[in-house]
Amino acid sequence: MHVKSLQCYHCGKKYPRSHLVYHCSCGGSFEIIYDYSHLKKHLTWRELRKRSFNHWRYKEFYPFLKEDKIVTLKEGATPLVESALEKDLWFKNETLNPTGSFKDRGSTIEISQALSQKAKRVICASTGNMGASVAAYSARAKLPCTIVMPRVVHAPEKIAQMKHFKAKIITVPGDYAAAEKHAYMLYQKKGSYLVGDYCYRGEGEKSIGFEILDQMKNVDFVFCPIGNGTLISGLWKAMKELKKVGLVKKLPQLMGVQALGCNTVVKAWKEGKKIKKVIPKTLASAIACGNPLDGEKAVHAFFESQGKGILVSDKEILSAQHRMQQQGLDVEPSGAVAYAGYLKIKPKGKCIALATGHGLKCIK
Ligand SMILES: [Zn+2]
Repeated sequence: MHVKSLQCYHCGKKYPRSHLVYHCSCGGSFEIIYDYSHLKKHLTWRELRKRSFNHWRYKEFYPFLKEDKIVTLKEGATPLVESALEKDLWFKNETLNPTGSFKDRGSTIEISQALSQKAKRVICASTGNMGASVAAYSARAKLPCTIVMPRVVHAPEKIAQMKHFKAKIITVPGDYAAAEKHAYMLYQKKGSYLVGDYCYRGEGEKSIGFEILDQMKNVDFVFCPIGNGTLISGLWKAMKELKKVGLVKKLPQLMGVQALGCNTVVKAWKEGKKIKKVIPKTLASAIACGNPLDGEKAVHAFFESQGKGILVSDKEILSAQHRMQQQGLDVEPSGAVAYAGYLKIKPKGKCIALATGHGLKCIK
């Protein structure tokens, strides 16, 4: 356990590492700070690579409390699959995770936390993928789980996944923000553990970043879809952490891709203004988050990595999905968003596009 403190990303206020609320008193989201100078002395690629290649290879960078409480399905270790149609492009195939999306990387951390903290039940607001993942890990931990879904989301395959793991499903009117509010209300019941795009999940999603830099040298660009901004900010934090502890020197530029009908973060980045809420209008339902919790962090990831934000239309998303299918890769529309962003600008250099969610999650 190498956590030093929790710090508010917005106002900088520090909290002890045992602090267990979800937002700072100012409303900002937390960031977990580790003892990087200690890790710099003790971590080498040689040591790390003696361990199995999966999410837990990089355990020193996670906030778990008790090693015997780790709930894992051996998530991560997804391959970089070379594009059959474009040169210098690889897909990080996240659809090969236990429940078919990258969300399992966050769930292993969050449900391990829930167990460490002796939670009695798990509550989660989700547009589908996170709910399916949380349901699986809760089943593994023998914790009852409730998933709150926005009624506007049509995701029968993801709901079927949740049912396989015996999750209780509640649908609420409105969008993801309304589901999140409802989940927060349910969480007030004693013994409940709220999971979602909070700092622990972001810490789990970092493992995509660790793996990419472990798998390939000199990556120039990473294309990442943006929903709540948790994935791209986790990815960037991971890469910076590897640099801080001296394991890598050069970091890639992060290219954040959003749907035109849910352009919150890219718009804020372009205009240099604060993020404004929108009512999402896109078929990429897994990234339809009109009030992105980690939007501010995502904008910073563009700036710090000298990357950029890219907007893609639903038509471009479907065309990218089709082009991936032609290469034998089956993703849902949201899973093709990063590739759609790549196809729009095709930069020169080694590129990675995240393929985030499986095509079986969205059958037409
Ligand atoms: Zn604050």
